[in-house]
Amino acid sequence: MSATETVFAAQGPTLVPVVGSSAAFPVRRIYCVGRNYAEHAKEMGFTGREDPFFFCKPADAILHVAEGQVGSMPYPSKTENLHFEIELVVALARGGRNLSVEEAQDCIYGYAVGLDMTRRDLQAEAKKQGRPWEVAKAFDHSAPMGSIYPVTEVGHLENGAITLAVNDELRQESDISQMIWGIAESISYLSGLFELKAGDLIFTGTPEGVGAVKPGDRMDGAVQGLGGLRVQVVSAE
Ligand code: MN
Repeated sequence: MSATETVFAAQGPTLVPVVGSSAAFPVRRIYCVGRNYAEHAKEMGFTGREDPFFFCKPADAILHVAEGQVGSMPYPSKTENLHFEIELVVALARGGRNLSVEEAQDCIYGYAVGLDMTRRDLQAEAKKQGRPWEVAKAFDHSAPMGSIYPVTEVGHLENGAITLAVNDELRQESDISQMIWGIAESISYLSGLFELKAGDLIFTGTPEGVGAVKPGDRMDGAVQGLGGLRVQVVSAE
């Protein structure tokens, strides 16, 4: 006998709207690249082109914010140092194992603007104690992101400004060409560790200038060609 009903209503996949389409992108997994811009690696106390490393966020950590809207991110519990990290997000239409860089590029469905929100104090404590990063990186609402721009509309991104302002003050400003590991290189490397599949998202790392926000602050992130992402931090209920 194989069960056809579930003991409670199963939650469907997190859906992210696609620009110019009535069909949404169903998210499978979220992978994030750590320290992928040299100047950010330096500000975190590292240097050089070390092998890329990865961590994950749950798919339901996504807080989608449409262009022209203001998302509300509740200030998370158990932190006094909530940091923003503006990132380019890559969405995969297919996957595989041990992909070459060329094969990896062909897996890309589209791109979006995202924020890898981080409880920096809990991350620092985890690093010190040799503990995992989930409480610092994978909490609820920790992945605000805009709608996905398909490659068929915007082409493949190789350069372009990536910026983040807090309350209209520019805090992060770089170019996605400054990534240590390029987009396809990161996907290729990741596919040696996990079998990638359609629906996977990859947050590709943040440039220098990360910092803290508090309730009431408004973050405006952008990647050239992918519109903007506006998120207001609000007090938790
Ligand atoms: Mn990050």
